[in-house]
Amino acid sequence: MDKPKIAMYWCASCGGCEEATVDLAERILDLVKLVDIVFWPVALDFKIEDVEALPDGSIAASLINGGVRLTEHEHMVKLLRRKSRIVVAYGACSSWGGIPGLANLYDDGEFISRAYHEVPSLENPHKVTPQKTTAINGIELTLPEVLPRLLPLNRVIDVDYYVPGCPPTADVTWRTVQILLSGNLPPKGSVIGASEKSLCDECPLNETKPDKVLIQDLKRPYEVIADPEKCLLTQGLLCLGPATRGGCGALCVKARMPCTGCFGPLDRVSDYGAKAASFIASILDFQDEEAIEKVIDRLPDPVGTFYRYTLASSSLGGKARRK
Ligand code: SF4
Ligand code: SF4
Repeated sequence: MDKPKIAMYWCASCGGCEEATVDLAERILDLVKLVDIVFWPVALDFKIEDVEALPDGSIAASLINGGVRLTEHEHMVKLLRRKSRIVVAYGACSSWGGIPGLANLYDDGEFISRAYHEVPSLENPHKVTPQKTTAINGIELTLPEVLPRLLPLNRVIDVDYYVPGCPPTADVTWRTVQILLSGNLPPKGSVIGASEKSLCDECPLNETKPDKVLIQDLKRPYEVIADPEKCLLTQGLLCLGPATRGGCGALCVKARMPCTGCFGPLDRVSDYGAKAASFIASILDFQDEEAIEKVIDRLPDPVGTFYRYTLASSSLGGKARRK
């Protein structure tokens, strides 16, 4: 009997989600016993024409990571949608826009200038900027068009399932593969491979978290050496575990880094950033405005803090567009 065909594709991706698949390590050998990988640009030399030649609906599942930023991404995800019975948004970027979705804070075109000429960590003495066409040795090379905004996958095609994480861990990926192969699929639109509960539920420090947390200061990770035996939030570190879906095994917290929310919202939360900001506001233990202002000033990048992975899919969406 033919094995089910699967495809993997990256859009605007840092490559971390692809690394995460490689993190399956020897389980990749089990995977290839179970499925036939028909497209995986990062690792295998299949061409777009190979996908085009497949009958519509012949791929059992396509796992797509990265947000949709280029016309090429748009074309490829529509092609994979047509060829696949199941499409999975794999990772934070594909599910909600992820970190590249923060570019939606800049208007059309502004983000290119920001990325190539303005960011403080940049080294670009010749002010190189990507061009749509470049001639080299008489041959004209072209780049795909940049879309006005980065779009989560479900703003471009119909998505069946979501796998959270930046990136999803190997265990989350393996659980996802098993769910897809089981034939026992959850309702369309479900988050798969992760937990239904918040990160605190699986965090080893949860026992030290009081029922009602109140904090009087916010600290940044570089300012303190965290007590490894005590809930990070109660130490004033902005841990978003209470607002974030679990399933990662609390890897960051185990390394004394507060959760930044890469597993995204729990079920029935439509705007992760609003939920996380409202939770943090509810535990600040202050009476007077001035003290509150002081603490808020300790948050240098509120959007990057609360909407780091979800801005593109949030009700804010990014900066208002110029007419
Ligand atoms: S979800 Fe994270 S690891 Fe995956 S492509 Fe986006 S930024 Fe990279
Ligand atoms: S707030 Fe953070 S450190 Fe505290 S229990 Fe939740 S996940 Fe763990």
